[in-house]
Amino acid sequence: MPDTDTRTAPFTEAETVHGGCHCGAVRFEAVTALDSLGDCNCSRCARLGWVMQSVPARDFRLISGAEALTPYRFNTERIEHLFCAVCGIESFARGTDAEGQALYMVNVNCLEGVEIDRGRIHHWDGRSL
Ligand SMILES: [Zn+2]
Repeated sequence: MPDTDTRTAPFTEAETVHGGCHCGAVRFEAVTALDSLGDCNCSRCARLGWVMQSVPARDFRLISGAEALTPYRFNTERIEHLFCAVCGIESFARGTDAEGQALYMVNVNCLEGVEIDRGRIHHWDGRSL
């Protein structure tokens, strides 16, 4: 299937997806079914308005833009929010899960050719954490 096809997430099977920031400095790819879409009402996520999908570190690859990534941490500081120093877009974050496994949080809004079934977004109550 060509990359130009638009698909609606969640997918039934894992696929390679490509994404990045707005100016194009930051580019990445990930292998995921986008089957655990989430948003969050915490003080930062509510402002950002992103839709997250967690991806194990082994299934994520940064293609370009490492030098443009600027980290931001808050609250428990377990998640490193990485935004592009040029265009300001956070296309992914990285951190560890509850078991200490490295993971990435992909901003599904930053993926190419991906539409989101908004009825399938899980709403995390991050404000209460
Ligand atoms: Zn950028």
